[in-house]
Amino acid sequence: MKTVSKFLLIVSPFFFFSCKQVKTSDSFTAMNTFMTVSLYAESHKKGNNLCNQVHEKIDQLEKILSTTLEISDVYKINYRLPYDFSNDELKNLLDFCMETYQKTDGAFNPALYPVIREWGFTTENYHVPEPERINELLKNTDFSKVTYSSLADGMELDFGAIGKGYAADKAVELLKSQGVKSAILDFGGNIQTIGCKSDGSLWRVGIKNPWGQGAACALTVEDSAVVTSGGYERFFEDENGNRYIHIFDPATGYPSQSDIESVTIVCPRGTYADALSTSLFVMGSKKAIEFWKVNQDFEAIMITKNHQLIYTQGLKENLEPLIDFNDVIIISKNQDEF
Ligand code: AMP
Ligand code: MG
Repeated sequence: MKTVSKFLLIVSPFFFFSCKQVKTSDSFTAMNTFMTVSLYAESHKKGNNLCNQVHEKIDQLEKILSTTLEISDVYKINYRLPYDFSNDELKNLLDFCMETYQKTDGAFNPALYPVIREWGFTTENYHVPEPERINELLKNTDFSKVTYSSLADGMELDFGAIGKGYAADKAVELLKSQGVKSAILDFGGNIQTIGCKSDGSLWRVGIKNPWGQGAACALTVEDSAVVTSGGYERFFEDENGNRYIHIFDPATGYPSQSDIESVTIVCPRGTYADALSTSLFVMGSKKAIEFWKVNQDFEAIMITKNHQLIYTQGLKENLEPLIDFNDVIIISKNQDEF
């Protein structure tokens, strides 16, 4: 990540003075998430129209991806209802999921739904299932067996780990195609930016403090997705105070017990950032660092349970801690240990 690119420095004064841009914001609830779109356009009328188009696009995507909406494509596939398998959007997304499943060694697994539901995460009937039941259900979660037009008995899909990132990518695509040069989308904490702020400076985004109010770090970005997975986002506790979070380890069928409290991924594509935020959470910090060293097409910020802040070197100029950490560690390419 660099500070403002030279190109923008040269072009932006001309751009911003030659055609006055006004800010328009709109918020709505979609995909069970409070979403806000803020963008710069030549008029409020145009801005409002663009925000409405984004809202419509997200509603459309929800009708494809939702696991609970009875008319959705995923619902029809999961419940074996009549379905013609002609949706290229879903097919392409499934191809991306397969690639990421393989790349992450199964940490990212959109076929975990039977297990996740058993724990009550979609029904809100939260409980700890018997180990035998988990093992039984785990047999139906081998994502490598999934193809678009065939799902083995007992298998079900869930795009919960990438839905919002994918939706943000589609919204950005739409806005860019309509000439938007500056926007920030907040889809329930999944941030996606287009260009820089209207004055040419970088967007400043807060990374949530897992243990309290406000932000743990501030991050400056341009043209990026910033996606966080946090154990604090959704969880339940048993009578002994054990916490069970909504991010699952596909290897065990139990909520992840990695050393991570939250992972934030920064990269151009929201879909990739969202898939990796969930995956690196499951991997834990050590494996996640190894993964980053092999696949340096993203940057990552990890906040660990023992109050360490670990982040990758590309963010060196862009990250500012706002709370006290026990350690702040910057990971570089050639470092053997951290
Ligand atoms: P996120 O908040 O992006 O980390 O996504 C969490 C959501 O993804 C959960 O609510 C589940 O629906 C689903 N999920 C949980 N664990 C996994 C996993 N290991 N791989 C793929 N999806 C998962
Ligand atoms: Mg995710």
